[in-house]
Amino acid sequence: MSTLVSPGITLAALQRTPLLDPVDQRILLCHALGITRTALITQPDRALTDEEAARVSALLQRRIDGEPVAYLVGKREFYGLDFTVGPGVLIPRPETELLVELALERLPPRARVLDMGTGSGAIAVAIAHARPDAQVTALDVSPAALAIAARNAALNGVSVRCLHSDWFTAVTDETFDIIVSNPPYIAAGDRHLSEGDLRFEPPGALTDHADGLSALRTIVAGAPAHLVPGGWLLMEHGYDQSVAVQALLAGQCYADVQSWHDLAGIARVTGGRAGHG
Ligand code: GLN
Repeated sequence: MSTLVSPGITLAALQRTPLLDPVDQRILLCHALGITRTALITQPDRALTDEEAARVSALLQRRIDGEPVAYLVGKREFYGLDFTVGPGVLIPRPETELLVELALERLPPRARVLDMGTGSGAIAVAIAHARPDAQVTALDVSPAALAIAARNAALNGVSVRCLHSDWFTAVTDETFDIIVSNPPYIAAGDRHLSEGDLRFEPPGALTDHADGLSALRTIVAGAPAHLVPGGWLLMEHGYDQSVAVQALLAGQCYADVQSWHDLAGIARVTGGRAGHG
């Protein structure tokens, strides 16, 4: 049993004791004790019981050992909405909000939207929430991810059709107005896979176990058969992949091929429009 935090310590004293990043510590403390951030400030003299000290110690220790905060508290905010997350899905990243914004700017009325490799459902649910008139389909090869995506749709009061599918297999005969995806795009052996939160995330959501472009290639090759003429394909990719992804699109007769930068100034999303036949 970890003894990071001693029984009897007050909330005030605990916050003066930086055991890890102060923001993380505050979030985990509130979570372990089931209290709000306000209570943390208004009850400085509250002392931890033996049981509470053990619970706080265990949770902080897991963070010190590297587990992502989002998994420890079971949720993460994305596009202003709360999402349930767990080790079965990638943790939604702020840079992925760019993909949502670009999709929303291009949605016709009552759009049919396809999100490929939805994971937690963050992209699909954010789009469905912003545009209740859209018909959003989310697919994933992982049944565990689909269960979480469906739960996130329900939690946010939106309707998303969740399909178990190995890329296009479950939507063979369907067409969409727009296709979006944040696929696994990290190359096998990339050092980032063994750093930070990524160590705890599902490898299948992060890497294609190849050159990083194989999922993007599959999507680029398959999307024209599933897009209306002029329909957009928008994909998130790695910091150094925009040129390669533009080349994939240009090689398949997409028009208006371009990339967009995230808030960190990195070319993060690339897309193009399906040709007119
Ligand atoms: N953006 C994630 C990261 O590099 C990876 C997400 C993905 O592979 N789609 O941390």
